[in-house]
Amino acid sequence: MQNFYNEPIRDFSKEENRKWIFPTIQKIRGSFPIVVPAIVGGEEIKNLPKEKHRNPAKIEEITTEYSLSDRNVLENSILISKKYFSNWSGLDPKNRISILWNVGDLILENRNELSALILLETGKTIPEAEADVVEAIDFCRYYAKEYERIFQGQRIDLPGEENFYSYKPKGIVGVISPWNFPAAILTGMCAGPLVCGNVVLLKPAEQSSAIGLYIYRLFLKAGVPKEVFHFLPGNGEDIGAEIVKNTDVSVINFTGSREVGISILKECGTFRPDSRRIKRALCEMGGKNPIIVDGDADLDLAVEGALQSAFGFQGQKCSALSKLIVLDSCYETFKTRFLEAVASLKIGSPEILSSKIGPVITEESKQRLEKIVADHKSKILFQAVLSEESKTEGHYFAPVVFEEQDWNSELATKEFFGPIVALFRVKNFSEAIDKANDSDYALTAGLYSRNPEHIEEAKRKIEAGNFYINRAITGAIVERQPFGGFKLSGVGAKAGGPDYLKSFLEPITITENTMRRGFTADLIQ
Ligand code: NAD
Repeated sequence: MQNFYNEPIRDFSKEENRKWIFPTIQKIRGSFPIVVPAIVGGEEIKNLPKEKHRNPAKIEEITTEYSLSDRNVLENSILISKKYFSNWSGLDPKNRISILWNVGDLILENRNELSALILLETGKTIPEAEADVVEAIDFCRYYAKEYERIFQGQRIDLPGEENFYSYKPKGIVGVISPWNFPAAILTGMCAGPLVCGNVVLLKPAEQSSAIGLYIYRLFLKAGVPKEVFHFLPGNGEDIGAEIVKNTDVSVINFTGSREVGISILKECGTFRPDSRRIKRALCEMGGKNPIIVDGDADLDLAVEGALQSAFGFQGQKCSALSKLIVLDSCYETFKTRFLEAVASLKIGSPEILSSKIGPVITEESKQRLEKIVADHKSKILFQAVLSEESKTEGHYFAPVVFEEQDWNSELATKEFFGPIVALFRVKNFSEAIDKANDSDYALTAGLYSRNPEHIEEAKRKIEAGNFYINRAITGAIVERQPFGGFKLSGVGAKAGGPDYLKSFLEPITITENTMRRGFTADLIQ
């Protein structure tokens, strides 16, 4: 077996790493609209009703027409899944591990096309899209390596007694993925359960169905049998909810909003007359992520890290910074420098490599963000200005910085999921920690400080699944920084970490008394 390694991101300041971008974007554009069928047992179901998705940066361009899978599609996929589950789960684990390595290799081979598609369907810049693709590759390699470790199990043999502790796949896993990491999160959420021997029903997000289809096809090309991986595009509240309710599904693997995640947890806890198992729900949800800037922090580093954390992919990352807590002693200096930095961000089409801020995903998202701004107008410290062209061309929303003192305000409590950040002033470090923790969420958090005592105190006290010191709080790397939160941010599954795969497995103990009294007649013959 191969050794795990993280795939590096290319350096786009080098001409040779950039020259593919324009022609590849044009090639992908030439295939629009991409018609996304439901695919069950390898068969494309084409006659379903469809909905359209548009390029967020160029709204006249329809990128995708995704099918609306219905209950019939789901029932067929369940029938096939039940029939073929034992073939897949009974395969020598080495075969599934090797297939997963193939998936990673194929994603790497196709990374230019995939990045261009991500840019056009979701509005990510090329460096952000490449980071998404590279993380997808890392998930494949990492879960392949992890499963190799797990399937060995544990043997404890005594004279006369053999004990083997090992794992069996749980069965059918419904994967319900978000649009904001359309390659990485979707790939990881499918790769984990598949390598363990489960069957997967994939419901990609409406806004990134073509990316979902592209990756799904790479899994099949890599060797995943068509009978154990089905593709069910459609609307969350329809086909998503059907998958959640289905009593043949053993695990719901969900990443998305808190509202939907909590409703899934509730539904999975509901026992139905035909329930034959306790359904597990892995729900990874949002965050209200703070960064503390200590009085003695390196402000160059803090400004750069806060900027990247708040505005990368327009703040549409669950790990994005939205609560910037600054110590009184450096507040004014930090504020001036941070606002200058925000003002320098170039807003424009993600097709232009120098653009730092592209569009938000949909008109609905833009209107939601505009409402936050309208509701808190008096608290605006800075709002960037959009060009006339951007206003009409796509779902552009200019970055906003608020200044707030009320810790109960929605600026201090609600996930923004857009290029908005609020600055808060605190008197001392212990107030900073208290306020950072004063949240329903516990996903990511950051600290900029040069004070060793404060750093140690924060390590002990900060409530976050991923805590970063003197660096940005986005961009977790598979294996090095297993990702996910607790409190209302998630169930602690930690994608890209050593505990993840066990969520898709049943632990089993087999004990054999080997002090046999004689042999069976068959053996004697
Ligand atoms: P969303 O909850 O709207 O959608 C996520 C998925 O759930 C989509 O596939 C959607 O179709 C489906 N869905 C919607 N309603 C459903 C229902 N009633 N039943 C079943 N499925 C349903 O979230 P989104 O807008 O795609 O993603 C943004 C959210 O995801 C943010 O809150 C962000 O913080 C969170 N997120 C969390 C993580 C993490 O690892 N913790 C990672 C990425 C995104």
